[in-house]
Parts: sequence; C-alpha cells; structure tokens
Amino acid sequence: MKLCRFNDNQIGLVEGDQVLDVSAALEALPAYKYPLPRGDQLIANLDMLRPKILEAAKSANRFPLAGLTLHAPVANPGKVVAAPVNYQAHYDEAEVDPGIRFGKEIVKIQTIGLFLKATSSVRGPSYGVEINHPDRRNDHEIELVAIIGKPARRVSVENALDHVAAYCIGLDMTVRGVEERSMRKSIDTYTVMGPWLTTADEIGDPHNLQLTLTVNGEPRQSNNTANLLIKVRELISWASNWYTLQPGDLFMTGTPDGVGPVVPGDTIDARIDKLGSMQVKVRAA
Ligand code: MN
Repeated sequence: MKLCRFNDNQIGLVEGDQVLDVSAALEALPAYKYPLPRGDQLIANLDMLRPKILEAAKSANRFPLAGLTLHAPVANPGKVVAAPVNYQAHYDEAEVDPGIRFGKEIVKIQTIGLFLKATSSVRGPSYGVEINHPDRRNDHEIELVAIIGKPARRVSVENALDHVAAYCIGLDMTVRGVEERSMRKSIDTYTVMGPWLTTADEIGDPHNLQLTLTVNGEPRQSNNTANLLIKVRELISWASNWYTLQPGDLFMTGTPDGVGPVVPGDTIDARIDKLGSMQVKVRAA
C-alpha cells in the first residue's frame, strides 16, 4: 500500500498515476484528549486502518497524481533519527573533500553513533528546500528512510524489521561547517520526506534498493542499499538499545557517495526502487 498526504491534509491511496482520497478512513481513529499520545497516530493505527482505507477507496474521489501538493507522508514524527556516514564510498569521499569534512576527523559510525534532527525541519517534496546559509555549501543527501510502526525498546537485530511500518525517500539536506550535525541538518526544510510511504510488505528486504539522485538532470548519487555499512535491522536494534523508537519516528539510514551542493533555482530528482521518485525545488530562504 502506498499512502500520501496531499493538498489540504487529505490521505491518498496511490495507484499508478492516480490518487484516491481515502481521508474518510481517518474517522476510525480514536478520539484523543490532552495529553495526546506520543507518536504519529495514523502510523500507530495503520494495521487497524488498512481495511478501512481499502473500503474508503471503493467510493473515493480520484485525482491525477501530477499537480497534487505532496506533504511529508508522516504528519507528526516524534523524532528523526539519522545515521552518519553509513556507506564506505561516502566515507572515502568525505575523507578527501575538505568541503565536506571541514577540518574535522570523519569518525566511523560505529564510534560516533547516531544523531537526531529536529522534526521542525520536515517537509514534503512539494514544499521544496529553502537555502538558509547561501554563503555556505548546502548539500543533498539521498537516504532510504524506515518509518517506525510499533514501539521498539531493546529489540533484537532479528526482530527489528517487525517494527518498520513503511519506507520512503528522504533528503538529509546539510549545510557544511564546523557546527554539530544536529544543528546543521535541522534547518527548516532540510529534511524532505516523500513522495509517499510504501508499506513494508511491498518492500521485503530493504537491502537491495537502488538510490539515484540528479540535480537539474545531472547525475550526482547512484548506489544501492546493499552497500549500507550498518544494515537497517542493525540500526533499529542499536538505536532501540539507547532510546525507545515510537510509531511515526523517521529513521534515515545514511547517504552514499556523490553528495554535492545545490543552490536556489536547482531541481533535485530523488528516486529509490519501489518507493517512487520526487522532484524537489531549491529556493532562497
Ligand atoms: Mn545523512
């Protein structure tokens, strides 16, 4: 199942180049009172909602996908977890490029661990990226994103993928510099999620997906999740041994080689096997 969030916060079932408005299924969500439960409640209730979504699709209004405003597929992520330098080819390029490294030692992921991005940075593909520091280098990083579906606390590597509800494409936009990653990568619009979520049952093993990114049609990044240094199941197990992962948390698994700068006026095209493609425009803040 492929679900998007579009236009006026409608929920859409993506079928080829059509989107069916299945927002009516959300009426099955429980009525919440303050304090609201943690995590994204659509994702937390996705198994319960699935038959209701399929039922709503039977009488749904259809829209052509082209022309819709696509928002991030998860409306209320509790956190964005991210893996630094998780492909050897990106480690190698970061070591030799002072524009990436900025005088810092590239510490291996096994040593430095994971980092968090502010959820206020999350946008959908239609919103685009606003360059916040035009005097600096602002890079694209395409990443496979796992959307956590069930609370994960000290889960084993073997069971970790049971806690993934869906996957999507992510752009971990980055302003280069000496500051902490969590600051440089948390700028508003610097976490693009889209174009929709694809439920995990349609993906199976997430370690055989080609990632491709172009800027204005020029090839920049092309690699395969088979080359992840720390695999998705290991990332989730590892993180869950430090903190609880909750429904709707977005887990960015790292970018391969080929990162490079974008400037206002550029168009990024990001695509991952089985997850679709998204075009993201870059503009000045
Ligand atoms: Mn990244």
